[in-house]
Amino acid sequence: WSPEELEKNGHLLLSQLREHFTTLRTQPVTTTRSAQEIRAVIDEPLPTAPQPFPEILRQTWDDVRPNLTLWNHPRFHAYFSNSSSGPAILAEMFTAAMNVNVMLWDAAPAAAAVELTVLDWLAQMVGYPVAQDSVLVDGASLGTLYALAAARERLSGLDIRQQGLAGRDLPRLRIYASDQTHSSVDKAAITLGIGLDNVVRLPAGPTGRLDPEALRAALERDVRSGHRPLAVVANVGTTSIGAIDPVEEIAEVCAAHDTWLHVDAAYGGFWRLAPEVRPLLPDLSRADSVVANPHKVLLSPMEAGALFCRHRDALTNTFRVVPEYLRTRHEDGSVDFMNYSLQLGRQFRALKLWWLIKTFGVAGLTSRLSAAAALADGLRARARAHPDWTVENDSPFPLVCLRHRPHDRDLDDEETDALNRRVHRAVNDAGTSFVSHTVLPTGYALRISIGNIHTTEADIDALWGELTAAAERCAAPRLT
Ligand code: PLP
Repeated sequence: WSPEELEKNGHLLLSQLREHFTTLRTQPVTTTRSAQEIRAVIDEPLPTAPQPFPEILRQTWDDVRPNLTLWNHPRFHAYFSNSSSGPAILAEMFTAAMNVNVMLWDAAPAAAAVELTVLDWLAQMVGYPVAQDSVLVDGASLGTLYALAAARERLSGLDIRQQGLAGRDLPRLRIYASDQTHSSVDKAAITLGIGLDNVVRLPAGPTGRLDPEALRAALERDVRSGHRPLAVVANVGTTSIGAIDPVEEIAEVCAAHDTWLHVDAAYGGFWRLAPEVRPLLPDLSRADSVVANPHKVLLSPMEAGALFCRHRDALTNTFRVVPEYLRTRHEDGSVDFMNYSLQLGRQFRALKLWWLIKTFGVAGLTSRLSAAAALADGLRARARAHPDWTVENDSPFPLVCLRHRPHDRDLDDEETDALNRRVHRAVNDAGTSFVSHTVLPTGYALRISIGNIHTTEADIDALWGELTAAAERCAAPRLT
């Protein structure tokens, strides 16, 4: 494409996006087509002849877009609801245009500088200004893998980086976490050769919180039997119910056992910006590492995660490998981000965060997060006022787990689970709102996450209407 064609086609795309956002509320949140139908619509032979961009865009609009689940939709409440905001959308276009690769300072000097500044801002936002070694990653899963790799590297006397695991008489390394902890910790254990059997998942019980005394007992027991604790993973915002572990007490236990404390604040970290949530969040300053995901909360498109580490050089001591072809000059202040993780070639992820933080300012981000928290309060209040609904979780975050149990029907737990499954399916099948689920000690619950920049009170009204209508339909005795 010539620069003129780029501009012309860019205008085409932007005007389509304008239409998309203008009509967003009237579009279904997700598709009702089956996987096979979608594959059939998309699949085609390898194109041999060049195709004009307007045609490709039309096909994307007609065949791809309606078969997406629209995470930017105001009534998307599944998983963790977040939105990609205007400045971050455009930043991705800019970085692609510059084709930036933030691997070495010389390869992308100002981009590395922006990344350093953004990491510093993000660390302040999550309340972890002690970070000494930080890096932007694609998400929390890899952030946690890298943190645990760094924790393993710091274990004295093992030198796993150099000598590896195989054929050595090493103590069994173990990772400790509540049973509510995200599966990314298991994946990290698989990758690092720790093994799933050595992820000690302590029962969190109904509060969803890791019990520091149970942790202490597990560590003592394991040390007595010759295991070597590698790390404890504590949560600020569990995936299922948004629970917060008592990080400060856990830090005490970790200190007593000289064990690395990694905090998974993938979801909860940035809610510290909201003044109504902040007082309920623990102090993270004693953690050895923290992950927090701008792409879960901070109005950033996928992918944007941040890993912070309090020990200078912990990441670089783990990942620094410099072959001749990557040898470069060093200047004061220069940083080679290729040494901070497994990635060599790296996107300029920091720009979208830089643009969006500057555009909204902390004040603008705070007001968006507070608005989401208020919408969740409204939903909880409605459910609590209704005799057939209960709020099943206690979280300061806008993550609401609801369970439907008609007060005038004598349903046992299993029947109530089945009913909630039907309500869940009915709401999602209608296509106007999209929610997910979790299974709690009390049973199957609908899990509603509120965090989209486009979501308004009217959307929550509509969602509540759909939930109650679906519940009525699903609870009605079936005519056979
Ligand atoms: N930690 C928690 C608490 C999460 O909820 C998730 C994802 O939902 C992750 C980690 C993994 O994050 P990512 O998808 O960025 O790898």
